Amino acid sequence: MKIAVTGCGPAGLTAAIMLSGQGHDVTLFERFASPRPIGSGIILQPTGLAVLRDLGLFDEIHALGKRIDRIHGVTMPSRRRVLNVDYSVLGDDYHGLAVHRTALFDVLYKKALTCDLKILNNVDVQDVARSDQAIAIVDQNHERFGAFDIVVDASGAGTHLRSHAVHPARPRELEYGALWGAFDWPGANFDSNTLEQRYVGAHTMIGVLPIGRHSGVLNDQVAFFWSIKTRDHERWLCNGLESWKSTVLAIWPDTRVILDQITADSDMALAKYGHCTLRTPFGHRIAFLGDAAHSTSPQLGQGANMALLDAWALSKALEKSSDVRTALKSYAASRRWHVRAFQAASLALTPFYQSDSRVLALLRDGLFDPVAKLPVARRVVAGLISGMLGRLPRGLRV
Ligand SMILES: Cc1cc2nc3c(=O)[nH]c(=O)nc-3n(C[C@H](O)[C@H](O)[C@H](O)COP(=O)(O)OP(=O)(O)OC[C@H]3O[C@@H](n4cnc5c(N)ncnc54)[C@H](O)[C@@H]3O)c2cc1C
Repeated sequence: MKIAVTGCGPAGLTAAIMLSGQGHDVTLFERFASPRPIGSGIILQPTGLAVLRDLGLFDEIHALGKRIDRIHGVTMPSRRRVLNVDYSVLGDDYHGLAVHRTALFDVLYKKALTCDLKILNNVDVQDVARSDQAIAIVDQNHERFGAFDIVVDASGAGTHLRSHAVHPARPRELEYGALWGAFDWPGANFDSNTLEQRYVGAHTMIGVLPIGRHSGVLNDQVAFFWSIKTRDHERWLCNGLESWKSTVLAIWPDTRVILDQITADSDMALAKYGHCTLRTPFGHRIAFLGDAAHSTSPQLGQGANMALLDAWALSKALEKSSDVRTALKSYAASRRWHVRAFQAASLALTPFYQSDSRVLALLRDGLFDPVAKLPVARRVVAGLISGMLGRLPRGLRV
């Protein structure tokens, strides 16, 4: 088939690699002049790592990232533990791998460059034009590319193509986002295999995530994040860095080594979060993958992993059936349960960590740790964080 893939993120690159490997004629479209990653750190879960293993990229990504065995959160100033997720309750082979986005991008992009596929940069995909027999890409200059048999839309949460889904949906912007930056690993006082978080109520959250290295840096890195309402960003800029740093230090003095590396506002980039789930992640000759199909706050850390799983599932569906509609239906069916469960869990749990609710913060502080100590609950929580509430699809292994 002639297949157009939009977007050089984790979903688009993975889909392009797998589909070209199956012998399809793949063209990958990217809006940037040269493809590049945006953002700092992400955790690859056993699910996403299984897809990378299937692509033969596990060792390469492992050499760059930091193994995450535990996620630990403490509410301040009481120092009460409210989050303590240990991957090992799922088995010895289970862990996360925190990486700089650049590392994941580099590994996938390098692989894509070795594949028999075309990459067209500077194409800002605005629409598609469809007939019964074919589909074409339409860019910002109304130029058409195609005809293709299928468009695989992996252009992220801001996709312009959602209206072509069977049941279109509009994203809802979430009140809270976060400021993120990547800095040199601070060493002592932090565990290099743990994501550490500190909370004050549900309105303040600080995170320290070891993310290893990538091609552009010499030292191991840390991703540092600060939860913020997106509408308060202007005020944060006006107040100046020093006043914010003293607030952070009062909550978590050990972060001084990281804060000392923040010398300009632009060192901390604002990430806005939205929530949207396409009930049916396809339309006539178009499939939606990754954030284009389901976006949410990264509180559960599943987005990139779900993007990888989507790409894997779509390529398997197209391998099984050469009839486009049958393949798209089978792709949607294979991802339905997992996507809906995690989108619902993210929507339900995010306000416990990012909202103005005092009640939710009190419930979190009083209940989460005692409940999570129950053996069944420990497994469920570890399953939620690792993306492994059910089994991996047949063909993937941890
Ligand atoms: C701060 C933050 C932290 C996160 N932490 C985690 C985590 O720990 N674990 C996790 O799994 N997920 C995490 N996520 C979510 C994760 O980043 C996303 O779910 C994931 O990147 C989605 O991949 P994607 O390929 O679908 O989309 P994207 O990564 O958004 O890639 C989209 C690609 O399409 C291109 N594009 C966009 N528009 C167009 C257009 N019109 N035409 C052509 N190309 C276009 C973009 O330039 C980009 O290359 C986090 C997200 C944020 C913001």
